[in-house]
Amino acid sequence: MTTVEPVSAHDYILNSPATLLTDALSGFVAAHPDIDWQPDPGFLYRADRGEDRRVALVSGGGSGHEPMHSGMIGAGMLDAACPGLVFTSPNALQVAGATRWADRGAGVLHIVKNYTGDVLNFRIARHLVRDEVATDHVIVDDDVATASESGPGRRGTGATIIVEKICGAAAAEGKKLDEVAEIGRRVAANSRSIAIAYQACTVPGSSVPAFELPTDEMEFGVGIHGEAGVRRTAKVGARELVNRMVDPIVDALSLVHGEQVIALVNGLGSAHQLELDLVFGEVVADLHRRGITVARPMAGTFITALDMDGVSITLVRADDDVLALFDAPTTAPAWPYVPARAVSAPVAVTFAEPDDAAADGPECGWLSAFVDRVQGSIDHLTDLDRRAGDGDFGVNMDAALGHFAIPLRGTDTEVLDAIATSFLVRAGGTSGALFGVLFRQLAAAFADGRGFDDSLRAGAQSALAEIVDLGGASVGDNTMVDALSPAVDALADGDTGVAAEAAERGARSTEELTAAKGRASYVGENARGVIDPGALVVSWLFRAAADRS
Ligand code: ADP
Ligand code: MG
Repeated sequence: MTTVEPVSAHDYILNSPATLLTDALSGFVAAHPDIDWQPDPGFLYRADRGEDRRVALVSGGGSGHEPMHSGMIGAGMLDAACPGLVFTSPNALQVAGATRWADRGAGVLHIVKNYTGDVLNFRIARHLVRDEVATDHVIVDDDVATASESGPGRRGTGATIIVEKICGAAAAEGKKLDEVAEIGRRVAANSRSIAIAYQACTVPGSSVPAFELPTDEMEFGVGIHGEAGVRRTAKVGARELVNRMVDPIVDALSLVHGEQVIALVNGLGSAHQLELDLVFGEVVADLHRRGITVARPMAGTFITALDMDGVSITLVRADDDVLALFDAPTTAPAWPYVPARAVSAPVAVTFAEPDDAAADGPECGWLSAFVDRVQGSIDHLTDLDRRAGDGDFGVNMDAALGHFAIPLRGTDTEVLDAIATSFLVRAGGTSGALFGVLFRQLAAAFADGRGFDDSLRAGAQSALAEIVDLGGASVGDNTMVDALSPAVDALADGDTGVAAEAAERGARSTEELTAAKGRASYVGENARGVIDPGALVVSWLFRAAADRS
């Protein structure tokens, strides 16, 4: 039984929903000095006009899909783009105006996504200019989710920018209008896409998303205008998801072992680049298993559906001619740099495991007791950092010390060294670095072969100096320094027992302080009454040293 949790609508940064488009276009033109705006009848165009006697490209569509199409204006891609209102096709007068402007005497190619409004308005525009400009058009219809026999046919989605890229390169090469159109139609015919969403988009000014989706379900086969998908299923892992998405595309294109494709993984607006990279890796692996080579990789946010939280996959069957045009240069600001190299196989990424296993030999009792105490207190430490910081302290301690088997074996120096390496390599955050320094200094001091107390005194002293130098904290700033500094003072004329008591008193003193350094400084008064976890762990180290047998 799934429950529909209330989904809050995305809040857009804007002056008013009514001026969103013009305000955004104004900012776009300001940010792209190579692109200008023609207010009558309303289109974006290449400011430098480009070479004469070259086929020109005009595209356009509803707004809300940025960076398509505006970001694809530039040498080697679009000459002009006509933005409609959000999710609404541009009107025929806009397209006609852009077509007249773009013509360099060699004709104008329209690249049109297959939606009734877009197809109609571009067609009327061609009719309007028929006595003035030679025109042709390519319809992009790549969405396999809408491949039914009846109805308006497959929607145009991700493949659009690849058709624009390839036609743009063909035009820049000086190919004739019918040749550029023919290449575009061939690329469109060899392109298929599918999209999924974890959450629908919200149209600016609306208070609800286009459709409601329970948090544990996804919509398969969504469109780029908030159209619900063809089916709703439980969320699955990325590998399974990609497999389900690639299957119908491979089927539709009849791709077989040995073929190569341009693979585009595209974010629909709210998907994070980390997710897109992850999905791309799964696409490469999936295609690799099918014996299909990714000739060119694209993973980014290019064709959006406002703030839709989802991803689309587009595959374009590629031959050498198509790839040569794909690889040609363009100045379009949203076209990514794609190296002209195939992706041979998925790449397994791991972090090297640090060589920090403690040595064989006698048990190192005091450090075993310390590590054991930290291992048993991860949740408590996390809780302290959650209340007074950002909540990752326990995770960092666990990353550094969690993997050690108790008892630790080896000389004091060997074990201190292993702990230092582990902190520096495995743990993140401030604590990873500063505890790494603490244990490295202790290891160095113990290596000098003095007695236990002398080694601890020398190591703690140089660690304190380095930690203060690095982090700039003084006593009273609510950090590990509040435990370390009194311990160092106590060791100057006392033994480890006195030092442990001083460290414990110092750690307890942080309960009354608000932090001045570290993440805890951002939560201010909230930290009052919460012991600093870094100081607490330092006090445990001195307690373990004092209680060693
Ligand atoms: P963060 O989340 O700040 O990156 P951790 O949660 O890993 O770091 O570690 C927080 C601990 O680090 C604090 O409890 C405190 O003892 C210590 N710390 C933070 N800033 C400093 C500093 N400038 N000097 C010394 N110790 C610090
Ligand atoms: Mg933290």
